[in-house]
Order: sequence, then structure tokens, then C-alpha cells
Amino acid sequence: MQLKYEPVIGLEIHAELQTNSKMFCSCSADYSNAPEPNTFICPVCTGLPGAMPVLNKKAIEQATLVGLALNCSINEFNTFARKNYFYPDLPKGYQISQYELPIASKGYLDIDSPSPYPSPARRGDSLPPSGEGLGMRVVVRRVHIEEDTAKLSHEKNYALVDFNRAGVPLLEIVSEPDMRSVEAALSYATKIRAILRYLGVNSGDMEKGILRFEANISVRPSGSSEFRTRTEIKNLNSFRALTRASAYEIERQIKVYENGGEVVQETLGWDEARGVTVSQRGKEDAHDYRYFPEPDLPPLQLDRAWIESIKRQLPELPDAKTRRFMEQYELKRQEAILLTSEKSLADYFEDIISISKSPAKTIQSWIAGEFMRYMNDSGLALENIVLSAEKFAQLIDMVTDKTISGNAGKIVLNEMLKNGGDPQEIVKAKNLAQVSDTGFIQEAIEKILSDNPKEVEQFLAGKETIVQWLMGQVARATKGKADPNVAKELLVKALEERRK
Ligand code: ADP
Ligand code: MG
Ligand code: ZN
Repeated sequence: MQLKYEPVIGLEIHAELQTNSKMFCSCSADYSNAPEPNTFICPVCTGLPGAMPVLNKKAIEQATLVGLALNCSINEFNTFARKNYFYPDLPKGYQISQYELPIASKGYLDIDSPSPYPSPARRGDSLPPSGEGLGMRVVVRRVHIEEDTAKLSHEKNYALVDFNRAGVPLLEIVSEPDMRSVEAALSYATKIRAILRYLGVNSGDMEKGILRFEANISVRPSGSSEFRTRTEIKNLNSFRALTRASAYEIERQIKVYENGGEVVQETLGWDEARGVTVSQRGKEDAHDYRYFPEPDLPPLQLDRAWIESIKRQLPELPDAKTRRFMEQYELKRQEAILLTSEKSLADYFEDIISISKSPAKTIQSWIAGEFMRYMNDSGLALENIVLSAEKFAQLIDMVTDKTISGNAGKIVLNEMLKNGGDPQEIVKAKNLAQVSDTGFIQEAIEKILSDNPKEVEQFLAGKETIVQWLMGQVARATKGKADPNVAKELLVKALEERRK
């Protein structure tokens, strides 16, 4: 008999913070806009002897915001530690991090699994479709502050090092091994990204490595509560890589056990092209890093009042916004979740609502339908959408008040999304105004019925579904301008008349 296995997944998420300057010096942290490699550097971030680090207050604020948003307790007494290891991307030979006392700990994040988010991982991958939310809570073990490393570019026989990124503030968010499926891990990762973007502390850009994931994975017989040996997959730079690598690693470990073997604790990399995890090195234990207190930085004492003042800066976060949208606009949970997946999308929706006379539900279905389809097909981000809330609202209202049909509305929307313009003018130029003038529709119907005697016969013989097909012909003949309700009424009447 074959055993069933259950995956156990814990995620470590690295997120650069969006500060002006680096974590411990005044160099610009905006390294992706540096004119050249090794220009945003100084003695501190290149690790010259005797250079002294100074804490970045903004980074502490942003880390506190993240901790609070993830329901953590904020630790008032913070210390920094040196994590020692030798690698060419680490100029000092150690990374300043937090070890025993992270800035935030013991929080949680509620997720839906499967993920309700429109995640890029879904595109082209055979993940199960998102269903009704199956809520679960993932415990956030800790959030701590550290610094990013330099960037290595590997050439043929050598490597180049760019210190512009060295010392950029980095947050590490560590979960408990609470996730039991790849879908749950994806859902958690997607929601963390959304929250970081809501807070304005991280762009969520995974391609540039501004946000990156490490998946810790083990498998155990279903029903067991033991924690088995895990492996860690480093530097996953997309949701797609996270899901594919995790799924691969789960299968690999199951095979190891099935063949009577043991999983070895190790650090793995993900080979995107080959679709396999590859061993990089044996996993270090904490003692390998020789952590010791950072002697150049005094402990950081945060006071209650300051923490409270940061708490007041917290924006309305996705969960709260979802609940409000459900109540205020009478939306279903999945509908509200889609709209609140990005703050900018939620704002766009509410901007349209404030201008439009149409019901919120109508606006929601325009966004979730034709608008999202365009976004997905074009791969554009909301920031790059030129359609103003005002023009979108005008268009939706034209459909609501029956100036144009729903189908014509879709044509106008796609035109505006592609080339901009004004809904009224597009309707005029494309001659899309809806006609409920019965004479014009009647004429079209008569012609269709006399052109299609076989279909008329089928109807008369009792095949009522043929009405749908005939309606399609009417829509085509009238170029979508016929009011469908009026057309249907006239069509059925004309058909019935042929019984006589
Ligand atoms: P480290 O040795 O890196 O300090 P920990 O063991 O404390 O790590 O945990 C690192 C990550 O690994 C955490 O996200 C945690 O949830 C996850 N993890 C720990 N044990 C397991 C396990 N048996 N299976 C899967 N993930 C695990
Ligand atoms: Mg780790
Ligand atoms: Zn510097």
C-alpha cells in the first residue's frame, strides 16, 4: 500500500525597504537607478576598517509598520548581531542582522487557500482554480531587520561585484511551518506582497529581487504530527518559481522516502530552465554563523508612544477593506477580495463609484470582467492604465441607461483601454448607439427569418433553443445596436406569427 504524504511548508521572505538611504549609511538605497555600478557606496557599506554604522530611522519605522500589519508584538528592546560568513558579495565578512531580539515577533496572517488572488502564477500553470475561500491562519514567527548584500554578476571566467545594493535595508519575514500545500504557500506569499505594497514599504517587484522567497519544505505521512527533515530552496524570484519549485521538491522528497531513503537537510537552488531543485550546499546551523552582538551599534529602545504613533499610520489593509466592501457595496467575498488585492485597484473602483450613477455591483462586474481580461491579456500593471475613473464611469452609465448595449460597451471599453478617447465620441464614431426603434429591428428580423427557413421550421417543431441562435443573427445584422430585450420580444412574436 502506498503511503499518503502531507507537505509541510514554512516561508522566509526577504523584502527590501523603500527608504531613501541605506540601512547604516547615507548612501542612496535607490540602486536600480544608479548611473553606474559602485557609485552609491562609501566606507561603511563597502566595509572599510573603522567605518561606523548608524541606524536608519525610516527603516525602523517601516519595519514596525510591517510588524504591526502582520499582527506581531513589537519588541521595545532591540539588539543587532553580526552574522559571519565569507562570500564576495558581503564586503564586511559579516551581515548586520537581528538574532535573539527581532523587531517584531509572534504575529499571524489569515489566508485563503486556495488563493483567491489573481496571481501571475496562475497564468499557464495547471494550478487548481480558486474556489471559495478556505480560511487558515499562518503564524508569523518573526520579522527582523538586516542589510542586503552586493550584487554579483557571473561572467565566463570571473564575476563582477556591484556594491550599490550592499547595505540596502532588508526585512526578513519568517513564518512557522504552518502551510500544508503549495496553494497555501502561494496564498500566503501573495498576501504578504499585497500588504507590503499597501504599506508602501516595498514595490513587490520580484524580477528585480526587491522581494524574494525561500521555501522550507518537508513531507510527512498524512495524519502524522512529526516534523521531518526539511530542505530550503533559496532565491525564488517569482510566484511561478515558488510554486513550481515547491511542487517539485515535495515530489522529490516523497520519492526519497518511497525508496527507503532519508531526506538530507540542505540548501537548494531552483533551476528554472530544467525545472529541478539543485543542491547548493549543506545547510548551515546557526552556530556556523558565529552570531555575536554588533559592537558598533547600541541597543535600540523603542518607546510605547512612538510605536502607537506608527500604529496610527497603518492604512486600511486588505482584510478590513474586503469586509468593508462586502458590507458597503453588498459584494460577495471573492468579488471584494479581487478588488482589494491591490490598493490602487480598490481606489480605482471607489473613484468610479463616486462618479458613476450605476450600482456598485455593476461597476464591480465591469472591473472583474472585461477590464481584468484586458489587464491579464496585455500584462499591463494598473499604473500603466490610461483610462481615467471618470471616463470608465461615463461608459458604464451609458450601458446602464441603455444608450448602448453591453456588447457595444465592451467594444468601447477595449478601445479606450488601448487608445484612450472619450466614450461618447467612440460611440458616435463607431455608430454604436443602441436602437430600440422597433421598425429597424423588425426589418432585420424579417430578413433573417426569410433567409433561414430551416431554423424557423425547427422552432415551430418545438426546438426553442434556436431562439438563441437567431438572436445572435439579429445582433450581427444590427451590429450590436439592437436593444436585446426589444429584439427578443419582436423575434419571438415574429416566430409565433409563423405558426398560423
Ligand atoms: P533556521 O535554521 O534557518 O534559523 P528554522 O528551523 O528556525 O530555521 O526555520 C526556518 C524556516 O523553516 C521557517 O520558516 C520555518 O517555518 C521552516 N521550517 C522549520 N522546520 C520545518 C520543517 N520541518 N518543515 C518545513 N519547514 C520548516
Ligand atoms: Mg533560512
Ligand atoms: Zn554607504
